[in-house]
Amino acid sequence: MTATHALGLDIGGSSVKAALVRGDAVLATAIRPIDQARQPGAVVGTLAAVADEMRGSWGQVDTIGVALPGLYDADTGVPTLLPNFPAVWHGYPFRSAAEEALGQQVTLANDAKAFSVAESLLGAGRGHRAVACFVLGTGVGGGVIIDGKLWRGAGYAGEFGHLSVDLDGPRCGCGNHGCVESYASAAAICAAAGQASVDKVFEASRAGDPAALAAIGQAVRALAAGMANVFVAIAPDRIVIGGGVATAGDELFGPLRDAVRERVLVADPDLLQVVPASLGRFAGAIGAALSASSGSGLADQS
Ligand SMILES: [Zn+2]
Repeated sequence: MTATHALGLDIGGSSVKAALVRGDAVLATAIRPIDQARQPGAVVGTLAAVADEMRGSWGQVDTIGVALPGLYDADTGVPTLLPNFPAVWHGYPFRSAAEEALGQQVTLANDAKAFSVAESLLGAGRGHRAVACFVLGTGVGGGVIIDGKLWRGAGYAGEFGHLSVDLDGPRCGCGNHGCVESYASAAAICAAAGQASVDKVFEASRAGDPAALAAIGQAVRALAAGMANVFVAIAPDRIVIGGGVATAGDELFGPLRDAVRERVLVADPDLLQVVPASLGRFAGAIGAALSASSGSGLADQS
């Protein structure tokens, strides 16, 4: 990591989050709402406004990384799959539009990968050689960081939402059957429990609601099976869990740790560390900043 000012911008469904990073210090954060129409031109305008605010307060920004909630073509900087954004984004020359509006080069990153880099280098995985991150949100994303760098393998490593955990399970959005995401995404948990939000599901489970208890139980079983497979396959020093669903805290982590230990019998149970993320809601922005400023392995690959 260098001692330059690295700005990270994380585009979410309702806001842009920003983090200004120097070395391993987060100097400033900001959050700005985006219009619910989520049109690309307006979002790019918000990115430029946040960058201008940071420059106004902190002077020159040396590098800028932008995290996108989906996939993009690394060569062209054009989004190819942003599930929660209007179709007009697909084919929109996002990176070049952002570079024009921001007045300097922009490095793109996937948001789950950016989260994984941030948590591994500066958060709950700090100091560990091999860290696997699960991001539990609308979908289930993730990333693997080895020796401080994102491990891509042939390009798609860490898509933990699509680990198969039920051979004949329901069809997943990816086309496979019985993926982790089919049970543990926020949408799957809410649908199974008949509730509008994950918070409401946990609220109902505390009141003893059988559907909520069953939905959480299924999510925990699926996640534990997926994590057990990751522990067996790559033996990470720890698994870090973040995202909206993970804010449930011990209600989730207690049963999850127990279920992982029940499934991994080839390792000392003390080696099976499943821990919550520690950087909070700006992890994606911090990771986007790191992606542009350091050799995190993130730079401009989807
Ligand atoms: Zn899938």
